[in-house]
Amino acid sequence: MVCRSKNRRIEAELVRLSRNDLEALASQVVRAYMKLPELQGQAIYCIDPELLCTSLLHLKVDYQHLSKQGTILGLTAFDPVNIILPDGYYTLDGKTVLIESSLNDEGSCVGRKNFTIIHEGSHQILKMVFPNDYGSKPHEARTAKVHFCKAETSYHGRITDWEEWQTNTLTSAVLMPKELIDKAMRLVGLRGRIERLNSVFFREEFEKFLEMSKILGCSMQALSIRMKQFGLIGEDYLGKPYRLLDVEVD
Ligand SMILES: [Zn+2]
Repeated sequence: MVCRSKNRRIEAELVRLSRNDLEALASQVVRAYMKLPELQGQAIYCIDPELLCTSLLHLKVDYQHLSKQGTILGLTAFDPVNIILPDGYYTLDGKTVLIESSLNDEGSCVGRKNFTIIHEGSHQILKMVFPNDYGSKPHEARTAKVHFCKAETSYHGRITDWEEWQTNTLTSAVLMPKELIDKAMRLVGLRGRIERLNSVFFREEFEKFLEMSKILGCSMQALSIRMKQFGLIGEDYLGKPYRLLDVEVD
């Protein structure tokens, strides 16, 4: 799984990958996932994050309380390191994806859990593909870096944390590959793009979109962002349906 672009730039020892680079890398990951022996002979409608992490990436997925307030959703490290969690010490072995255990609670958003598992797995994918950029240097061994991923990470305008942006972009592309979005659209009976994603005024299309998010195991927000990238959603009123009525007054 190697993805190196001619335009690749190295700055501050961290590779900077474009969205196209990350899409290409995600396609390689998804193709390898589809070939897993466990999935042969089955119709595949979604990416199972735990199967991807364990069978494809040979990582361990574990669940613990990561923070008292529940603000940390997941973490991983590339080297062995001891960390302190609310319930005591935990040894990360460098190949473990550790997920906030409350994401397994009934009523918790499955999409958020799935995104978090693949996000942590994506940190490990980037390290596997670019070990010189992401792996720790020998002199850093005693201070192994732990990637904490918090709730509500989003980017508006300038990207200030390239590693997180790259990881989130790779995560979206792995969790919601175009071929599975197309398949889900066919399954729910969406024949073309959604012109207006609106839960109040365009209820029928919205219900189909909701069903798609359940099929793919992702949040509606993540799916809407991904579908807009492909031009499959026109106007997005997710969470603010009445904005359709807003009239701009000079
Ligand atoms: Zn992260």
